[in-house]
Amino acid sequence: MKYDMTQNIRHHLTDGLLMGYSAGTLPEAFNLVVATHISLCDECRARMHEFDAVGGAIMIDQGEAPVGEGAFAATMALINDAAWSAPSEMPKRNAPAVFPEPLRDYVGGDLDDVKWRRIGGGVSQAVIKTSRDATVRLLKIPGGTAVPDHGHRGTELTLVLQGAFEDETDSFGKGDIEVANEEMVHQPVAKPGTDCICLAATDAPLRFSSLIPRVAQTLFRL
Ligand code: ZN
Ligand code: ZN
Repeated sequence: MKYDMTQNIRHHLTDGLLMGYSAGTLPEAFNLVVATHISLCDECRARMHEFDAVGGAIMIDQGEAPVGEGAFAATMALINDAAWSAPSEMPKRNAPAVFPEPLRDYVGGDLDDVKWRRIGGGVSQAVIKTSRDATVRLLKIPGGTAVPDHGHRGTELTLVLQGAFEDETDSFGKGDIEVANEEMVHQPVAKPGTDCICLAATDAPLRFSSLIPRVAQTLFRL
């Protein structure tokens, strides 16, 4: 089954995220989002290789063995698998994959295999098990539906896998990643049509503007 590569990505990873990924200092939840974007995005993959080269040169200058070597090798294996290996066969289905390879490997399946939990307002989520320093989840937002407006205590990464959403800043389509931080308050709204499926990671709880989402928050680790 071949993943339909995305050519029109307009929103990319920041240098800080690529550097952290290359150095192996990001939480596991963020690594998954970064690896998934990189598997779709030639531009960010090329930039990551530059950071890898710079990081390697600094280590050699200092006469030290590269610290993150194991993590780096694991990452490269992930990327290599994603970008260049023959597409893996999933005989159950003929539909094109929604999840790029790194994510499919992580969750052990594709969109049809996800066990969704409703979190209110028509939105569903599935939390993916990672280390607890950050949280990563799949979100399903029906076309035309809004996610409650919220601010952020830390960093939130949102990668679009299917459909599209827009907020106060811009619109985000398949392959695009939005990086939100403390200064940003936004209300993402899925564009009419297909469900918007996103992979979203946060390293701190969101700040909701109204009471109901705040109650849901304690239930669903938002
Ligand atoms: Zn990119
Ligand atoms: Zn947000």
